[in-house]
Amino acid sequence: MAVGWHRRSSMSTSPQAERVAADALNALRVGVLVLDAADVPVLANPAAVELGLVREGVSPQQVHAVIRTLAGQVRRSGVRREVELDLPRGAGGRVHLAGEPQGVRVRVIPLGGEDYPPGHVAIEASDVTEAHRVARVRRDFVANVSHELKTPVGALALLAETLLEAADDPDASRRFAERIHHESQRLARLVKELLELSRLQGADPLPTPVPVAVDRIVNEVVDRTRTAAAAKNIDIHFAGTRGLTVFGSENQLVTAVANLVENAIAYSSEETKVTIDARRVGDMVDIAVVDQGIGIAVKDLDRIFERFYRADQARSRDTGGTGLGLAIVKHIAVNHGGRVDVDSTVGAGSTFTLRLPARPPDAALPLPPGVEIDSEGSDVL
Ligand code: ADP
Repeated sequence: MAVGWHRRSSMSTSPQAERVAADALNALRVGVLVLDAADVPVLANPAAVELGLVREGVSPQQVHAVIRTLAGQVRRSGVRREVELDLPRGAGGRVHLAGEPQGVRVRVIPLGGEDYPPGHVAIEASDVTEAHRVARVRRDFVANVSHELKTPVGALALLAETLLEAADDPDASRRFAERIHHESQRLARLVKELLELSRLQGADPLPTPVPVAVDRIVNEVVDRTRTAAAAKNIDIHFAGTRGLTVFGSENQLVTAVANLVENAIAYSSEETKVTIDARRVGDMVDIAVVDQGIGIAVKDLDRIFERFYRADQARSRDTGGTGLGLAIVKHIAVNHGGRVDVDSTVGAGSTFTLRLPARPPDAALPLPPGVEIDSEGSDVL
C-alpha cells in the first residue's frame, strides 16, 4: 500500500471529489485508518503511519497489534472506543524499540454500510505528546511549589517550638525570633512572586501598553534597592543614554529591572559596583545590569531562567532567593515583545540585558479567542 490516500472499494464519486478527499487526508495531522473485517487497511493517510498505527503495506501484520485488538473489540461489541496509547514514533512495529514513544489518542469507530461487507472499522488518531508534556510540566511545578513552601513552613514551626523552650534565655530567644522573621519574610516573598508569575502567565498578562520613561524605571529601581546595596557597600550607578522611552507597564518593567539589580547585589561581594546601562540599539532599547560578582558557569546559563533553578542552592537560600526572580524577568520581557540575555564569566561578573522594543506595539487587533500555534505557509496544497 502506498503511503497516502488508499482505497480499494469503489465509490460513485467524481474523480475531482476523490482527488480533493485524497489531498485533504494527506494533509491532515490526524491519523485516519480504515480496516476491513480481516484487519487489512482499506485506507490510511500519512499521519496514520507517522503516528504508528500502521506500517506501509497491506498485510494485517502491519497494523499495530494494539490497534488490531481494539478493532476486534469494537467489531464484536459494536460500540466505539477511545483510548490513549504510547506508540513508537514513525511506524507500527518497524521501529518499535528504537522509536521515541509518543502519546496518541485513538478512537475506534464501527462502520456499517450497505455497499461494502460488514466488519469495517474507522480509526482516528491524534498526537497528544505535547498535551502530555504540558501536563507533566504543570505537575512538576505544583510539586516544586509544595516543596518550596514546605521548607520555610517546617523551619518556622521548628523555630517557634525552640523559641518556646528558650523562653528564659533572652539572647537565644532573640536569635530564634530573628530567624523566624527571616523565614517568614522568605515565605511572604515566595508567595508574592508565585502570584506575580501566575499573573504574568495568565489571560491578561500586560495592561494596555503606555510609554514609559527609562529614567523613571532606573530611579525607582535605585530607590528600591538602596538599602540592600548600602548593606554591602555596593555602589549602583547609571551609565548610558538619558531620555529613552519604552512601551508597556511601568510597574512590570520596574519589577524586572529591580529583580536584576537585586540579583547583582546578592551575587556580588562587598565594595563592588553595579552599573545600569541604557542605550538604543536599532529598534530596541537595551537596559543592561552589569555586576562584578561571582558569575555563572556555562552549564547553568541556559537554565537560570527556569522556575526554581538555582546555580548555587546554598547561596540562594542565604540571600532569601526564591528561584523565581529570573523567570519573572523573562516573562515580563517576552510579554513586552522583548527578551532578556545574559553574558557571564565565573569570578568576573555578569551582565543581564533586557531588550525592549523602542516603538509602540502595533494597534491592538481584536484577537479571536484561539491562539495560533503553528502555521506553515508551504503546507497549502
Ligand atoms: P534566586 O531567587 O535564587 O536569586 P533567580 O531566578 O533570580 O533566583 O536566579 C536564579 C539563579 O541564577 C540564582 O539562584 C543564581 O544562582 C543565578 N544568578 C542570578 N543572577 C545572578 C548574578 N547576577 N550573578 C550570579 N548568579 C546569578
